[in-house]
Amino acid sequence: MAAPVVGRFAPTPSGRMHLGNLLCSLLAWLSARQAGGRVVLRIEDLDQGRTSLAYTRQLEKDLLALGLNWDEGGLSAGAPGPYCQSQRTAYYEGQLKKLQAQGLVYPCFCSRAELHAASAPHASDGELLYAGKCRSLSPEEAAARAQKRPPALRLRVPGEEIAFTDGHYGPMAQNLARDCGDFILRRSDGVFAYQLAVAADDAAMGVTQVVRGRDLLSSTPRQLYLYRLLGLAPPSFAHAPLLLAPDGRRLSKRDKDISLESLLGAGFTPEEITGRLAFCAGLLDSPRPTAPAQLLPFFSWQKVPKEDIRLPEGLFAR
Ligand code: GLU
Repeated sequence: MAAPVVGRFAPTPSGRMHLGNLLCSLLAWLSARQAGGRVVLRIEDLDQGRTSLAYTRQLEKDLLALGLNWDEGGLSAGAPGPYCQSQRTAYYEGQLKKLQAQGLVYPCFCSRAELHAASAPHASDGELLYAGKCRSLSPEEAAARAQKRPPALRLRVPGEEIAFTDGHYGPMAQNLARDCGDFILRRSDGVFAYQLAVAADDAAMGVTQVVRGRDLLSSTPRQLYLYRLLGLAPPSFAHAPLLLAPDGRRLSKRDKDISLESLLGAGFTPEEITGRLAFCAGLLDSPRPTAPAQLLPFFSWQKVPKEDIRLPEGLFAR
């Protein structure tokens, strides 16, 4: 018998959800529910300076307002949580130790300015490709430098191609050393990095199916490499096209005009919003009011475009 499907929402509570976040949550929900699966809500609030409890409460409300429910996680979850990353530091420490025991972690003392000066932009997502300045510091040198400035911790990556098949974009491959470089596991301020936390958490929470925005497609090989090193079973991955504003720019949480809050305030019903999103994603042939559960018979990744989706002008105007 196939293992039960577990999908997830993994929002970062750094602002109000915008339509792109909601479309991605809708696709994650449909993908898990259509397979009869459960959904976990994990709050990605590692960066406490950028996230807040108020936004977390709000995003829970927003998801529920649209009918995107979950079975486990969120603020009110008990054991086996916690489901907020800010409360999972001890678990990440344990995972980090496993990597350190393999001799693959080293301290990096480079400042932001040094990184910018010495690194090439990341081939795929505009991040910096680390040139490896601190890769071969001796333990004595590293200890002396750590007296002056706390280091970030990086993972040594191999010049190896990591390949996987994305559920929407098909076969993908990345050479970690060439395309990505040694990446950060823990920042110099002690905050664990997204890559480690997300892989370790998806495994710990039993997630079998990751659906998220295409902007994270190029993070997947790094996460697969972490799964391998940590001896964890990887989930399947399906990435969704991004939703763009009518003028082609990427939506951002700063775009108040297209937040759920402002759309509900303008008098759109949750079904009108869901129906319009489903229409944009190719799941409906007209933008008619629809609840997520009514979309279950229509959902198929084959209908969803691969190119990013530009919101038609006026679709969300009153
Ligand atoms: N927390 C990330 C975001 O809100 C998503 C991470 C993931 O899905 O892996 O963009």
